[in-house]
Amino acid sequence: MYNPKSLKAEEFINDEEIRATLAYAEENKNNVELIEQILEKARPKKTESGCHCEGLTHREASVLLACEIPEMIEKMYKVAEEIKLAFYGNRIVLFAPLYLSNYCVNGCLYCPYHTTNKHIPRKKLTQEEVRAEVIALQDQGHKRLAIEAGEDPVNNPIEYILECINTIYSVHHKNGDIRRVNVNIAATTVENYRKLKDAGIGTYILFQETYHKESYERLHPTGPKHNYDYHTEAMDRAMEGGIDDVGLGVLFGLEMYKYEFAGLIMHAEHLEAVHGVGPHTISVPRVKRADDIDPDTFDNSIPDETFEKIAACIRIAVPYTGMIVSTRENEAVRSKMLKIGISQVSGGSRTSVGGYTEKERPHDTEQFDVADERSLDEVVRWLMEEGHIPSFCTACYRAGRTGDRFMSLCKNGQILNCCHPNALMTLSEYLEDYASSETKELGYKIIKEELNRIPTEKIRKIAEENIEAIKNSNRRDFRF
Ligand code: SAM
Repeated sequence: MYNPKSLKAEEFINDEEIRATLAYAEENKNNVELIEQILEKARPKKTESGCHCEGLTHREASVLLACEIPEMIEKMYKVAEEIKLAFYGNRIVLFAPLYLSNYCVNGCLYCPYHTTNKHIPRKKLTQEEVRAEVIALQDQGHKRLAIEAGEDPVNNPIEYILECINTIYSVHHKNGDIRRVNVNIAATTVENYRKLKDAGIGTYILFQETYHKESYERLHPTGPKHNYDYHTEAMDRAMEGGIDDVGLGVLFGLEMYKYEFAGLIMHAEHLEAVHGVGPHTISVPRVKRADDIDPDTFDNSIPDETFEKIAACIRIAVPYTGMIVSTRENEAVRSKMLKIGISQVSGGSRTSVGGYTEKERPHDTEQFDVADERSLDEVVRWLMEEGHIPSFCTACYRAGRTGDRFMSLCKNGQILNCCHPNALMTLSEYLEDYASSETKELGYKIIKEELNRIPTEKIRKIAEENIEAIKNSNRRDFRF
């Protein structure tokens, strides 16, 4: 039976409820009156303290996704953009993945790290190698990482992951440092989540891959990841272990996207119902070609237009979540996705173990083909050319504004009051330390314009002073 407050996977991701939702969505996909009502409900509303957005139920959101009327889809994109701008402004947060180890005991059919792949070289970074990778990432300008590892209790036990996190935070190369380490490792115990929390991680990210239990079990035939319930209930254990920022995601292309979408929104509703705080981020990866993986063997691959509609509908349904698109997607798709709700992108990424210290992009241990191969500098410049503000800010995390504290700031529309100047200050640091002259020139032109958009004079003055100090190599590490 469907129960969003239950801690049992089969009750909060309830197959019967998903099927009823899909039937309801199909029945109403041409019901323009209902679709208009849903979009009106979803639109951001001004309040005394800022701005408020109600979000949508999984049923309402599924109606939007099912709708194929071009004018309605255009309206959805508009609402998605309105929501993104109301809560996140034109800022886009940047990060990079760091692959620690590709040892894995699971049999995931879509991932080249699966245990039966006998020809892929297996590699695990030593602490010296972690340090070298982090220096290479800091030299690009990164401040925020997502660490990635296969599941292998012998080669990558939790102690290894914790040691790596410690090493990453300890590296201070020139003006560089990594200020937020997000973690994407396999589902684990409450005790291990507590250890990750104590190590100072940012978001714990775990992709569900598919919410469809039968497909899940078929796609994960062997290894601990085969256990659907253990995987699906992982975020509850993470929250029990004290981690209040968790990141959801589906690997699109594995199962029918409408089913996945309903499951994803139900998972977000469940977290909000049980823990009082929804997902900090939602990622939208799609299956890509990789070592011995041919994405065409999965018969649910989705075209770009559908993928974009899914992203817009997630933004509308879960308005306060950060939305992430990685370099799995090419420049054109990322450009469109940024307009309809994405708030975080990776840049200058290497998806191999030890890839950042190599001159040429290594392919031997790569997890998947990267479609956007541009450098971080190129991505930063491109974002600005497209009207976004690249942000390297990690202030919320450092000031303890995580979980419901972050969400309530976001819900009151207050994020814009401190995030915008913070983004400009961190961008200025990036321009001074790492940017090419072309990026630097454009960056300061944009910073000047954007400073003028800060409504409160006092805040504007402080931001201006700090940016002047950054330019004069007088760092104060000040953030709102
Ligand atoms: N081992 C951890 C786990 O099981 O959750 C971490 C996962 S892995 C390093 C990160 C994610 O990459 C996976 O959750 C999966 O969604 C994604 N992935 C795996 N193979 C992929 C492929 N061929 N194309 C795109 N993404 C892929």
